[in-house]
Amino acid sequence: MPYQPQFKSPQIVGRYAPSPTGDLHFGNLRTALLAWLHARLQGGQFIVRMEDLDLPRVVAGSADQILRDLEWLGLDWDGPIVYQSERTDLYQRALLDLDALGLCYPCFCSRKDIQVAASAPHGNAGVYPGTCRSLSVSEVALRARNKSPATRLKVPPQMEASCGDFVILRSDAFFAYQLAVTVDDLEQGVTEVVRGADLIDSTPKQVYLAELLQPKRGRINYLHAPLMLDDKGRRMSKRDGSISAKQWREDGGSSEQLLAHLVTTAGIFEEPLDCIALEELIERVDIKRIAGKLSPMV
Ligand code: GLU
Repeated sequence: MPYQPQFKSPQIVGRYAPSPTGDLHFGNLRTALLAWLHARLQGGQFIVRMEDLDLPRVVAGSADQILRDLEWLGLDWDGPIVYQSERTDLYQRALLDLDALGLCYPCFCSRKDIQVAASAPHGNAGVYPGTCRSLSVSEVALRARNKSPATRLKVPPQMEASCGDFVILRSDAFFAYQLAVTVDDLEQGVTEVVRGADLIDSTPKQVYLAELLQPKRGRINYLHAPLMLDDKGRRMSKRDGSISAKQWREDGGSSEQLLAHLVTTAGIFEEPLDCIALEELIERVDIKRIAGKLSPMV
């Protein structure tokens, strides 16, 4: 019997949110598979959202290719695909709400300024030290003559050392990833976020943003999938030519073989598999086994 979603718990909503910046590599696909299994094994919904806000990085045709790859692997989704580039009104509204809370400020720092400040004796690598937090109105006006600022969100004192005030609107006027993702996850009713461990540092920021934007809503369950390494032990990346599903398919590989590779490298079964159909996979695993491979927010 081909796999049929059960929707026993439609209040559970999982998602996969790829950036259409190139072909999915096996690491991306493994994360998509784990996110899908995590939602479907609970009888939940699964949605796909294209994170195509960062237009200069978007590759023409990539979004369609990603959808073809997911379909080919057998991963289905509910409802229409949402494209972030069509939702900027929502992000704008959220930005105004955050500003109304008195939590936003313009930041003129360059990447280099931040690096220098963070490497000072009391600085904290990778954490914005709050340089522009208390600029006067006249100073902002003066600086704005030469440079468009980014907009940062103030974080509470307990987050200052670990995360620092972060950008929600970039200086090139694109909404930042943190803001757009959180607005979408809230608006789309997402309850389970399963994504790559490379995004683990983003999670506290998004928890904070979600609490500001929708304080009464229950907390999203954030889980992180281990990153897949290539045969040289390096993290896979879309840019370095890591093998893509498209390439695999063109070389005559089957989806059952690729599924077997993904579940084997994820350590889902004791023994390595050569081949497994999605229907068999969903029969043979349970939610505990999948959740056991994912790390919650630390
Ligand atoms: N669009 C991001 C990526 O492809 C993932 C964002 C997320 O899952 O929150 O890396």
